[in-house]
Amino acid sequence: MPQKTKNTPMMEQYFNVKKQYQDAFLFYRLGDFYEMFYDDAIKGSQILELTLTQRNKNAQDPIPMCGVPHHAAQNYIDILVDKGYKVAICEQMEDPKLAKGMVKREVIQLVTPGTIIDEKAGEAKENNYLTALHQKGNDYGFAYVDLSTGELKSTVLSSLAATENEILSLHTKEIVLDKSASDETLKMLKKLKILISHQEEVKQQAESSYAVQDLTRSSEISAVEHLLMYLTVTQKRALVHLQKAVHYEASHFLKLDHYAKRNLDLLSNTRTGKKSGTLLWLLDSTRTAMGGRLLKQWIERPLVNKQKIEARQEKVLSLLNHYFERSSLQEALTKVYDLERLAGRVAFGSINGRDLIQLKTSLENVPQIRYVLEQLNEGQFDDILEQLDPVEEVADLIERAIVEEPSISVTEGNLIKKGYDAKLDEYKDAMKNGKKWLAQLEATEREQTGIHNLKIGYNRVFGYYIEITKANLTRLPQDRYQRKQTLTNAERFITPELKEKEDLILDAKNKATELEYQLFVEIREQVKDQIKRLQKLAHGLAQLDVIQSFAVVSEDAHLVCPELDNEKHTLKIEAGWHPVVEKVVGRQSYVPNDILMLPDTEVLLITGPNMSGKSTYMRQLALTVIMAQMGCFVPAKKAQLPIFDQIFTRIGAADDLISGESTFMVEMKEANEALKNASANSLLLFDELGRGTATYDGMALAQAIIEYIHNNVHAKTLFSTHYHELTVLDKSLGHLKNIHVGAVEKNGELVFLHKIEDGPADKSYGIHVAKLAGMPDNLIERASIILDKLEDTPVSNKAADEKIKPVIDTTETPNMLEEEQLSLFGGSQIANKQVMPTKKQNKIINEIEDVNLMSMTPMEVMNIVYKWQEELHKK
Ligand code: ADP
Ligand code: MG
Repeated sequence: MPQKTKNTPMMEQYFNVKKQYQDAFLFYRLGDFYEMFYDDAIKGSQILELTLTQRNKNAQDPIPMCGVPHHAAQNYIDILVDKGYKVAICEQMEDPKLAKGMVKREVIQLVTPGTIIDEKAGEAKENNYLTALHQKGNDYGFAYVDLSTGELKSTVLSSLAATENEILSLHTKEIVLDKSASDETLKMLKKLKILISHQEEVKQQAESSYAVQDLTRSSEISAVEHLLMYLTVTQKRALVHLQKAVHYEASHFLKLDHYAKRNLDLLSNTRTGKKSGTLLWLLDSTRTAMGGRLLKQWIERPLVNKQKIEARQEKVLSLLNHYFERSSLQEALTKVYDLERLAGRVAFGSINGRDLIQLKTSLENVPQIRYVLEQLNEGQFDDILEQLDPVEEVADLIERAIVEEPSISVTEGNLIKKGYDAKLDEYKDAMKNGKKWLAQLEATEREQTGIHNLKIGYNRVFGYYIEITKANLTRLPQDRYQRKQTLTNAERFITPELKEKEDLILDAKNKATELEYQLFVEIREQVKDQIKRLQKLAHGLAQLDVIQSFAVVSEDAHLVCPELDNEKHTLKIEAGWHPVVEKVVGRQSYVPNDILMLPDTEVLLITGPNMSGKSTYMRQLALTVIMAQMGCFVPAKKAQLPIFDQIFTRIGAADDLISGESTFMVEMKEANEALKNASANSLLLFDELGRGTATYDGMALAQAIIEYIHNNVHAKTLFSTHYHELTVLDKSLGHLKNIHVGAVEKNGELVFLHKIEDGPADKSYGIHVAKLAGMPDNLIERASIILDKLEDTPVSNKAADEKIKPVIDTTETPNMLEEEQLSLFGGSQIANKQVMPTKKQNKIINEIEDVNLMSMTPMEVMNIVYKWQEELHKK
């Protein structure tokens, strides 16, 4: 740090603080501003578009500086943190007016991307997770926390790939590491561009020993401890709302890797990045922010336990069948605010009067919700009811204490209700009644003394006084008042009563404000004692909210309750549809389809023209499975499903832009993940695999992959392909079934039926699709000629046909003809190469074509054949 000239004491203090926060912008409070200096100022002024100025302009080396007004600081902090930076807020710890020497300053909070809790508009239904990792051999202890809600979860992951997947799924922006992370791990995190924060030292703290109580594995405990230590160090306050770490096992949920989540448009649309067009968009009729966040978690982690799934189904069914009760629950839920985050802010100490009113309003709705639910309950709502504790003490306390429309600030009064605190009421009375009281005193004193011009006045030195003119002094009884001041023609007096009231009147406002704040803090502390109960309630309400959302969607979209059947391994969907596509294109235009995979069917090979609905059909199954295992109803007339352990997908041709990998590489990676990790209980979706590379090796890979799955993995697999040649596989693979999407030709135009039928498609219709796409007529005609020829000619001789040789310059695609020669299913490359006619052979072929056998004698024929043979044998 540049320090040529001798620093002022203030800059000395600045450097001392900055030393501890090298990786953060230091917002250093100076009067009404937060200032940044040196590099912070240079970089900060650019990012925040602030004017860069200088401190000590005239010194030899002035200090770059820029600042933001303290009341607007939050905006600037948000911008920096949003961009992935940290901001250390350094406050004045004493009143500069009263300070002797340098004003004491301290960092009161380090704001980081993983610890922001001030939610912005539109983010109420989002979680912001801070994660931590502790590596120990092959154990990846992993923990994550949402500081705003106190949710804390942990697990042990068994590979770096699983860890990467978890990090991506949580959309974490910041990860806390200790020294245990390997180079490989660091490389992965850098690739994902996640802010890495270091927390090496861990001190014993009460919070963390509570948090890790239920954990057993050391790597997991370490991860939680580091995470909590980092929070303590950055937030610098007790965080009583942090929940006990809940251990989770990836195997207790339907595993969906990051690729699958993205490919299936679960939470965000792959093309637009928005919510619209996603499963979340379809299912989200939640009424509370808590429900919204829980719904996302359920979508990302569907269940695998039949009882647990059915427990959700029963609840949905009950709400589906009881419209009025459901409406009344919805109405009540709409009035429930974000209890989880309110509880978090109580713990954080950042709650204000309005938040408490929101808390009260929310709690007041709980009895109604309980009542309705109890009416419906036949056991299915027991677990939710158990959590719906109305926390009456808190509701009552707020009702008694807090005014209905409190100020936003907690230090400016207007918070506490009349009747809550006698002292405060006295202050307020004094404020309001001060003048009235004085007037009354004046009146009674006049009456009792008989002095009509007796008056009560006020001056700043002596305060309130009773003034009696000299002429009237004789009428004043001895010792009635104490003399205070003598003027030329009057005397001023006080009484102990007046003195006492004076204090009240003068300080009433200040004191009231101060007392209100004190009382507010006391109330906040009392609410804080009930945080665990509030969190439990919040969780119960969130679940109920998601369930009612399922019921709403099930009713609107006519979903059915699927029958889950793990033993028989039967998948039977009658008249099912893709719920999102259907919602977009409309019910009338959507053609429902069956999906049938009896226990002996493992692979469905789907053929059909482009745009006929193959991808839609596959995604439909994936979404149906996910919805079913979330406990939601599914888009079909009837559905019977096995419970899957994992879904793997290879869908679409999305380039992995983040990591800059090519389509084909991504395709192979996704396929590899599936082959490596899938079990017989998994669902595999391969959409046009092999498209990203040249025809033959793509087709070769596709076939080999199908065979591998069929012979080794035994997972239920949907494989769509444009390689028509693959449909013969049903001859050799017993558990493979061909299906196709129907299309009919009408007057040379293609009409998609979107209807799935048994057996392979008869052609691939590519040219028709090209025609629909508006390609030039002569191009389409030319393609038809080439196709006809290709279809007439045996594979091995195709290229020999002059008519289908490319009309374009062959030098540009030198390998094309040779490639066309290769038969995938037939002989080897070498064998096929021999079929390629040489110049000599071609000449002979031409001669054969030209001879007129009818005009020749048998002998002549013998001779000419002999000549050809000679020529052919000649080297
Ligand atoms: P493919 O994968 O065969 O090329 P897609 O699955 O991408 O075809 O479907 C193409 C379009 O056809 C979709 O965008 C959708 O609008 C429509 N579609 C697909 N399936 C159906 C269906 N069953 N009913 C109505 N429209 C459908
Ligand atoms: Mg497709």
